[in-house]
Amino acid sequence: MRRPFIAGNWKMNMDKAGAVALAQGLVEACKDIADVDVAICPPFVYLDAVCQVCKGTNVAVGAENCYFEDNGAFTGEISVAMLKDIGATYVILGHSERRNIIGECNELINKKVKKALAGGLKPILCIGELLETRKAGKTMDVIKDQLEGSLADLTAEDMANVTLAYEPVWAIGTGEVATPEQAEEVHAFVRDWLTNRFGAEVAQNTRIQYGGSVKASNAQGLIGKEDIDGALVGGASLKVDAFMGIINNCR
Ligand code: PEP
Repeated sequence: MRRPFIAGNWKMNMDKAGAVALAQGLVEACKDIADVDVAICPPFVYLDAVCQVCKGTNVAVGAENCYFEDNGAFTGEISVAMLKDIGATYVILGHSERRNIIGECNELINKKVKKALAGGLKPILCIGELLETRKAGKTMDVIKDQLEGSLADLTAEDMANVTLAYEPVWAIGTGEVATPEQAEEVHAFVRDWLTNRFGAEVAQNTRIQYGGSVKASNAQGLIGKEDIDGALVGGASLKVDAFMGIINNCR
């Protein structure tokens, strides 16, 4: 039985006071939630403050990115060890905004995934197709490429610490959510791929979140599907009530 996992991706939003207040509000609201894993992923500069608020609570903290080298002359980058040092547990990797705006490729994402795992951070690996890909009927080809490239060289043991997030790019921040059936079709494909690549046990144990305009009103229908194990939430994770509505609707 996979435990639901809801993660908030705050992206490049808020100021420090807002980030701390949101973390405090969520810690308070989540204190009796024992049946769902919850994580929040603030911008780098607020991570330390948010980690301090969440320390010892049932709200985990993740970063929105990391680099694949240990240390050195990599201006502007943040290492896995730095994130561990301040108390982060998760790291979002391969988000479509990093793939499509910053230009990250599967090979780079794979290096980051491997480095995160080696350093004890748990990757939330995002995959998802562009609208034109879906229209061309090539969704599963792209998903397969992203999985093969981003998870290259990983072992079945590594997968115990990996969460996948299927995020159709056309649904991110657009208000246009995938239907539960559209999402489930891809989630089932991903689980089949996991079975072939890592075996049935890994496939059954790996959590696959859906992401893309999730809110309280559509969360239940999505998470009710067999292969959808939670959500990666952008916009609706920026307010305590909106995020809690999603968490409560998937219990
Ligand atoms: C995201 O950024 O991962 C995301 C799913 O955003 P939104 O919920 O705003 O669509």
